[in-house]
Amino acid sequence: MSPSAAKAPKKEGKSTYKFPHDTKKYQNFIAGKWCDSSSGEVSENRNPANVTDLVGTFPRSTKEDVDRAVKSAKKAFAWWRLVPPPHRAKMFYRLVDIMQKNKEMYAFQMTREMGKPIFETRGDVQEGIDTALYACGEGYRMFGKTVPSELPSKFNMTTRFPIGVCGLVTPWNFPMAIPTWKMFPALMCGNTVVIKPAEITPLSVWNLLNAVLEAGFPPEVINVVFGAGSKVGNAIVEHPDTPVVSFTGSCAVGRKIGSLAAPKLKRVSMELGGKNCTLICNDANLDLAVDACIWAGFGTTGQRCTASSRVIVEEGVHDEFVEKFIKAAKKLKVGYGNDEGITMGPTVSEEQMKTDLEYIEIGKKDGATLAFGGKRLTGPEHKNGWFVQPTIFTDCKPKMRTSQEEIFGPVVSVIKVKNYDQAIEVANDIEFGLSSAVFTQDVNKAYRAFRDLETGLTYINSATIGAEAHMPFGGMKGTGNGHREGGWGAYEFYSETKACYVDWSGTLQRAQIDDIVPKKK
Ligand code: NAD
Repeated sequence: MSPSAAKAPKKEGKSTYKFPHDTKKYQNFIAGKWCDSSSGEVSENRNPANVTDLVGTFPRSTKEDVDRAVKSAKKAFAWWRLVPPPHRAKMFYRLVDIMQKNKEMYAFQMTREMGKPIFETRGDVQEGIDTALYACGEGYRMFGKTVPSELPSKFNMTTRFPIGVCGLVTPWNFPMAIPTWKMFPALMCGNTVVIKPAEITPLSVWNLLNAVLEAGFPPEVINVVFGAGSKVGNAIVEHPDTPVVSFTGSCAVGRKIGSLAAPKLKRVSMELGGKNCTLICNDANLDLAVDACIWAGFGTTGQRCTASSRVIVEEGVHDEFVEKFIKAAKKLKVGYGNDEGITMGPTVSEEQMKTDLEYIEIGKKDGATLAFGGKRLTGPEHKNGWFVQPTIFTDCKPKMRTSQEEIFGPVVSVIKVKNYDQAIEVANDIEFGLSSAVFTQDVNKAYRAFRDLETGLTYINSATIGAEAHMPFGGMKGTGNGHREGGWGAYEFYSETKACYVDWSGTLQRAQIDDIVPKKK
């Protein structure tokens, strides 16, 4: 099947997957074998739309489990690093077909374990498939460079080599896509991996692992250890034999990980929080801007690192925008994401729901106007889940807590500004720098925004969410430490550049010292 046929979109609507609501005891995968945690303890994974639905139980693993996983991955690295990249690429080609075949099942289970509607979880799986397709191509490229030498009869080149065991720690909001962003380039480059998914969304990584094994990857090259961040995540980061750590999650945990890894001089990639803005200029196509703000504000229940939780609007169109935005938010259908027509799911957990409701109280106390929503939903179809109404605040000041802090819920702050220059100033006056969007018909303003907005991603006339797998993804300022996932940047992170000099002159030629210029004949 061609990639474009594979991508044929299925829009909103019910899941077509007939999956029994089974409950299963899942295991770790360490040293090529399924096994329980050494503690014997498990934790429950429940459907956030209906907590009476137990998805399964997963091991609460320990430092000993991590030690065994790293030991196995280290042993496997000794030979996996020598497998030619085109050979690894063929495994990725098989993986693409397997993921495509199971896409609906993965999406159904992802919606069941973390709540976003089925059309979004299909997108999450598709992003993993796209990342695998990119890996296939990279297996035949992995370009190095050749450059001229300053000395005659000498050849200079660079090439890329794998590094070792990569420790991967992932969040819950993109339960399959984010693990693939890390795991696929790491494996393609010839590294082995130990991954710990978020405790709330282990099943999607369990599904991914099964696909990888079915595709023929040697079992020892990938280890999955389930459990708590403070135990398993910590142990992966601190382990002396994980020279590479890739983390996506909150700024608070990112800082801890950074300080644990720094003394060991590890290579660490951090993709952290965001508080992203959409700028709406007086000349914007307002209906388009409203669609984008609904999608970016309430998609994944606002639980995306790239969610647009700040909308900065020029005063000339502010009132009209707000009216249209509220009208559109009223049309969102909130419920269990595997059901027909649902456009917004629950928050991922009780804890996240409480955080959202607390921030809504803070917004009210700080003087913002609650223009829409603001409550927990408790009707018959919501009573067993963690549902919050899509919420819009207006009259927000740029420095209010609800305008500055990452809530990670369906809460959008609208900030009115006098003009475009003030909009840019307000947009940048924040610690984060992941994504931004600008709506304007003026090409000059669009390019100025691209230049001046302090974010790793800028969208012109589109929503702040929607990164493509082959483009660099990551943030500026407090959103990370400058690395990029996606596309070619990931391959640079997961490999070591080596420089090689080949001298066939037969004499000792000393760079910078000998001035050897071939003589005229
Ligand atoms: P989190 O920081 O709570 O957890 C992320 C992962 O780290 C989980 O697997 C968790 O178990 C683990 N962890 C927790 N404590 C740890 C510790 N002390 N040592 C090692 N690992 C530890 O984040 P979350 O709630 O899962 O995800 C939401 C956050 O992730 C938001 O801030 C969001 O913006 C961010 N995020 C960022 C991106 C990005 O690419 N920039 C993408 C998605 C999510």
